[in-house]
Amino acid sequence: MRRHIFEQEHEQFRDGVRRFMQAEVAPHAERWRAQGQVDREAFLKAGQQGYLLMWADERYGGAGVSDFRYEQILIEENVRYGEPGFFMTLHSRLVGPYLGKLGNEEQCSRLLPKCVSGEHILAVAMTEPAAGSDLAGMRTRAEEHGDHWLLNGAKTYISNGQLADIVIVAARTVPEKRHGIGLFIVERGMSGFERGRNLKKIGLKAQDTSELFFNNVKVPKRNVLGDPAQGFVYLAQFLVEERLLGAVQYLAHAQAAWDLTLEFVRDRRAFGKPIGAFQNTRFKLAELRAQLDGLQVFVDQCVLEHNADSLTPETAAEAKWLTSELEGRVMDECVQLHGGAGYMEEYRIARMFTDARVSRIYAGSSEIMKEIISRAIGLDDRKMK
Ligand SMILES: Cc1cc2nc3c(=O)[nH]c(=O)nc-3n(C[C@H](O)[C@H](O)[C@H](O)COP(=O)(O)OP(=O)(O)OC[C@H]3O[C@@H](n4cnc5c(N)ncnc54)[C@H](O)[C@@H]3O)c2cc1C
Repeated sequence: MRRHIFEQEHEQFRDGVRRFMQAEVAPHAERWRAQGQVDREAFLKAGQQGYLLMWADERYGGAGVSDFRYEQILIEENVRYGEPGFFMTLHSRLVGPYLGKLGNEEQCSRLLPKCVSGEHILAVAMTEPAAGSDLAGMRTRAEEHGDHWLLNGAKTYISNGQLADIVIVAARTVPEKRHGIGLFIVERGMSGFERGRNLKKIGLKAQDTSELFFNNVKVPKRNVLGDPAQGFVYLAQFLVEERLLGAVQYLAHAQAAWDLTLEFVRDRRAFGKPIGAFQNTRFKLAELRAQLDGLQVFVDQCVLEHNADSLTPETAAEAKWLTSELEGRVMDECVQLHGGAGYMEEYRIARMFTDARVSRIYAGSSEIMKEIISRAIGLDDRKMK
């Protein structure tokens, strides 16, 4: 189905991004998956093209472009022609805004330029071994000591964890308050900041996902983001965009899987005809086509709402839930239509199947999305007796 949200300049941008993904990302993807992380050069090259933190002000080296459609295009082209494990978007739109929106002038001018150029790579560390969905249960703590905060604790499952030069770390600052947390800028080389294992995952193998440890890390006060007791309020500000980023990616991934499966069922033959001639194959692909088209319209509308600053948390949660669930269904059906080939790692669909599984878990699980939606319709268990 034709999409209507893009102007001519977006389409030109898409052409350039596609060429970049084909030339600078795809040829390295297999090696990155084998080594468990992308090359730092990938970020530098993306930075040279102006693809990182496009929203950043020109005085920090950015383009000052906040139109989300450009990020949408970067995600869609990376998923289709690049490598989904290249977490450029996490750097640019998921972590970068913590600095851009919460940082003061000194922090922005000191830190943003190298993030825009790709010299410095970003990560955000919330999750802990005993606190994921329930972040208020985090144990990492920061204590105030004169000119610095002393940070102690451990984080896990942190994307870009090995590569990151700057990590935004959430830590408890007010022990007696469940939501009393602060956000701290931890830089590569700070004494007591150590990286653990690059964790072995079933998918997204080019993406480094790590444990991080903080043992008496002295974080200077100039590295505190905003009010050190308001971290929870800040986190909530970024969730709408985080969920929309996810929705765009999951849907693009599902679209790409559908396309390559259509090609496969036209070629593969059984019982004297292409398997695409069987009614089951035709109906399965027809059902998925209709669901993909319907959801694309919804996600594109969410992008426009976000550009207008009117996307609500519950609608973003709907988009994240719907797309990640559909992505899972599409991958499963597409593996089935590939037969044994779908189970072989040499076929892209097998990799897409395992890459997709995490979409229903991270950035807020499907169950948490349904909590948000149900609370917004007035069914809030915390207020019901
Ligand atoms: C590949 C990968 C990359 C990640 N990257 C990052 C990162 O960069 N930074 C970061 O901070 N974190 C990151 N995470 C962590 C991720 O955000 C968490 O895994 C996720 O929030 C779920 O938390 P958990 O693993 O502790 O699961 P849990 O919270 O223990 O959940 C376990 C199960 O219980 C369910 N559940 C929990 N609470 C409820 C409830 N109230 N009602 C119903 N069901 C519930 C969940 O939906 C889930 O099914 C990453 C995770 C992965 C797998």
